Amino acid sequence: MSVERTFSIIKPDAVAAGHAGEILAMIEAAGFKILAVRMTRLSEPQARGFYAVHAAKPFYAGLVKFMTEGPIIVMALERENAIAGLREVMGATNPEIAAEGTIRKRFATSIERNCIHGSDAAETAAVELGFFFGAAELL
Ligand code: GDP
Repeated sequence: MSVERTFSIIKPDAVAAGHAGEILAMIEAAGFKILAVRMTRLSEPQARGFYAVHAAKPFYAGLVKFMTEGPIIVMALERENAIAGLREVMGATNPEIAAEGTIRKRFATSIERNCIHGSDAAETAAVELGFFFGAAELL
């Protein structure tokens, strides 16, 4: 295993519900270093682009609407085995089957409104980090 970087979003549901601080605390408690963090709001083209891989899915339009409904917090995170490690801390996509103690088990309210995003592979982490952060922010 080696030190990796991953990309994460605290989604609009969790920011609106006031869970951003607790989610950040859980991420830090799991050993992640926050390299960069910013509050922003996705435009519709940005949300469509970010989730382009899901364009053919029946939930795509709803997902784009959800992700643009309010502010989000985007983060660049670093840790040993960060990509798989963050997904473990997040829990399963569907909170009904997410493990106890995970972020989604605690704060997600549905399979769509599941409070956090985390990159699923090294290639997607690189693309997603570049989507939101410039090289000078990630030194
Ligand atoms: P993730 O990597 O765990 O975030 O899951 P995916 O990459 O498969 O899906 C991206 C996002 O689309 C999820 O985090 C959810 O917000 C949403 N999503 C995924 N599957 C479904 C689904 O079956 N129904 C709905 N409504 N939304 C979904």
